Amino acid sequence: MAESWVFGANDPELGFGLNHLPFTAFVDPTSGRRRLAAGIGACLLDLVAAEDVAQFPSTMDEWMRQGPDAWAALRASLQYLLSRENKDRKVLEAALLPIAGTVLENPCAIRNYTDFYASRNHAMRVGEMFRPEKPLLENYDWVPIAYHGRASSVVSSPAAVRRPMGQIRGDVRPRFGLTERLDYELELGYFLGTENPLGEPVPVADADKRLFGLSLLNDWSARDIQSWEYQPLGPFLGKNFCTSVSPWVTPMAALEPFRCSAVAHPEGMLGYLQEAGQGVSLRLEVRLSTAKSRARGMADFTITRTDSAELYWTPAQMVAHHTSNGCNLLAGDLLGSGTVSGATREEAGCLLELTALAPFSLPNGEMRQFLEDGDEVTLVGWGEAAGEIPVRLGDCRGRVNVTPGSR
Ligand code: MN
Repeated sequence: MAESWVFGANDPELGFGLNHLPFTAFVDPTSGRRRLAAGIGACLLDLVAAEDVAQFPSTMDEWMRQGPDAWAALRASLQYLLSRENKDRKVLEAALLPIAGTVLENPCAIRNYTDFYASRNHAMRVGEMFRPEKPLLENYDWVPIAYHGRASSVVSSPAAVRRPMGQIRGDVRPRFGLTERLDYELELGYFLGTENPLGEPVPVADADKRLFGLSLLNDWSARDIQSWEYQPLGPFLGKNFCTSVSPWVTPMAALEPFRCSAVAHPEGMLGYLQEAGQGVSLRLEVRLSTAKSRARGMADFTITRTDSAELYWTPAQMVAHHTSNGCNLLAGDLLGSGTVSGATREEAGCLLELTALAPFSLPNGEMRQFLEDGDEVTLVGWGEAAGEIPVRLGDCRGRVNVTPGSR
């Protein structure tokens, strides 16, 4: 990949090279208007201000609907304009601004949110807690399990997460109060681009090219509300109080070097899910800071390291399954992977699993079973391949029970 002339673009630590070019939106401080931008190095390229040198989309959703050829053309154009080969930089230089200090938002309107359950390790360990004799339900190996979440409460990182109230199981009768079991879920969020009409399923072999990009996603969960309400219709208020996504959408094209073989299904799978395409291997971490650790100036504690390569279903299978009954997916629909958990408990993507046997102690001596007020969770992810600048996904950060704007 060619080098870029933009400050920080060739820095492997930043992971925002010419091979990445994620999209975001920012609020222009002078006009207060929302503008689309691409990330390069330590900068944002304001796509409105750069309009004189190329045709850029004015709204993300319309452009995402146009499909992979339009996406590839814009990507190639940006890669050339921002490379050292391009000597005509005047307009572009004026359209660059530092990322630091800007308020970022997800670039597209999130139309619908569906959350899958694609980590077999996660399903197995959560199942063990409730049904030790038969942790996995009989459908797990056949059905890419999911539920319809709520788009209105999907917010951009950094999120101020309010500890929700809800019904909680009691000894004699339930009570209504603040959740005492607030948790995060480390997930990948896939953004749909090209749409399928209602009634027309997407064949699995065509599914990958409908996905536009990916962001880190935190499916905040209130475990006590969830465990009391989830039968018989599944997750509801234990989930829909907040879901946060990184404001950066990494194009699927940037993740090509990190695609990996789909996970084997020893029992086989039904025909419409075969030709699964590939998975995505991204290194993922969950980092935690507390009010006390920040007051002492300590760095975030990394509490989980895992990889998305082990997800049991590929993104193509999720799209094929979601549309197999004719359900129509829209540009800007968000598909969560489900909690990404590795084979060992230390690689678990949520506290429900990490602290199932016992609370853990943080390096500063504090104990945690679930999140406390002031805790801040940061999801971090990146792809690494030989000879490439790493592609670092935008962080997904949220702090529990702090006043918005006070960070
Ligand atoms: Mn989830």
